[in-house]
Amino acid sequence: AQRPLTLLGLGDMGTALARTWLAAGHPVTVWNRTAAKAQALAGAGASVAADAAEAVAANDLVVVCLLDDTSVGTALDGIDLTGKDLVNLTTGTPAEGRERAAWAAQRGARFVDGGIMATPDMIGAPETGGYIFYSGSQALFEAHRTVLEVPAGARFVGTDPGHAALHDVALLSGMYGLFAGISHAFALIDGEDIAPKDLAPLLSEWLVAMGFFVANAAERLTSGDLTTGVVSNLAMQVAASGTLLRTAEEQGVSAELIRPYLDLMRRRLEADEAAHGGEDTSGVITLLKR
Ligand code: NDP
Repeated sequence: AQRPLTLLGLGDMGTALARTWLAAGHPVTVWNRTAAKAQALAGAGASVAADAAEAVAANDLVVVCLLDDTSVGTALDGIDLTGKDLVNLTTGTPAEGRERAAWAAQRGARFVDGGIMATPDMIGAPETGGYIFYSGSQALFEAHRTVLEVPAGARFVGTDPGHAALHDVALLSGMYGLFAGISHAFALIDGEDIAPKDLAPLLSEWLVAMGFFVANAAERLTSGDLTTGVVSNLAMQVAASGTLLRTAEEQGVSAELIRPYLDLMRRRLEADEAAHGGEDTSGVITLLKR
């Protein structure tokens, strides 16, 4: 028989998780603040608890997937967690993850925080490549690994309970930077005789080709050497950035999305042209840390 678990929270994500565990044969006890969403899962075989306390009492493994950290505190307030294995798949900050871990420890529970790198349609669909970051109690993770691997891939990123959230937010932050550049690119061609769908494959291909910057930046941050093997030096890139800004102006497009990065490139160069002119743009990273 498959291991049973409890799931609190049946929004879009919680419902996808519950359906996937049920389909894999795991008995799932569910609770949701709005009871109708739990009733909808009874037909798929879920046991519906009358309240959160009853749901928590039903199983040792308790997975929580609510809106935000505040709703986790509200939903679990006053509930006995002694001896429970609490897995929090609610999105939060690293500090919230660490505080929630200390909160769980005070209540006698083992704790793992998660960061879901998937949308609900990617849950239970391994071919989409979705996965979940986990961090915190390694003993909990190992004990329940086979259950946690059912909805999506599972990647344990260390015993610091803040690190799942930190990985999650780092990846999402990189994504939004990419979205910003893509938005600017499409705005530039708007109104011209260039179809967005004709630019799209060229832009995708270029962004994939430029993905080498990720590994390069990591290498440079590790070695501390920002200049070896640079093919597009910072002095040249700062000079060329004027063309990007003038083109935006010519096209009647706000540079508000790309200007901050170009300004940081210039600041890095102007701090010490002789020292930084031969770097790539990874020196910008050093300007961001407060
Ligand atoms: P939904 O908005 O669909 O669902 C939110 C859930 O939280 C509902 O079950 C809701 O209950 C519950 N809730 C909200 N406030 C409270 C409260 N004060 N007390 C008790 N329960 C509460 O969100 P999702 O299911 O999409 O997301 C859930 C988590 O998963 C979030 O942290 C989200 O960031 C994360 N996530 C979602 C992704 C997505 O693409 N959807 C991707 C990656 C992570 P009720 O039904 O009663 O309103």
